[in-house]
Amino acid sequence: MPIYEYKCGSCGKTFDLLVSRSNADKRPACELCGAKDTERIMSGFFGRSGSGGGDGESGSIGGGCAGCTAASCAGCKR
Ligand SMILES: [Zn+2]
Repeated sequence: MPIYEYKCGSCGKTFDLLVSRSNADKRPACELCGAKDTERIMSGFFGRSGSGGGDGESGSIGGGCAGCTAASCAGCKR
């Protein structure tokens, strides 16, 4: 599951949340003040697939790692 960052429009609190695909379109309540005026912030880690593993997607992403000789993508910039 992806981790999204949200910002509360009421109190300004930012917080991270694990969001399942079925809840991806919903706005979570602010964990500080409970307001639902939260906004999802698109951070730079979009598409990262969590911790550990990393195999299973080698060579499947349009040649994104074609020049990478590492065993996994953990060590390359892509
Ligand atoms: Zn808040």
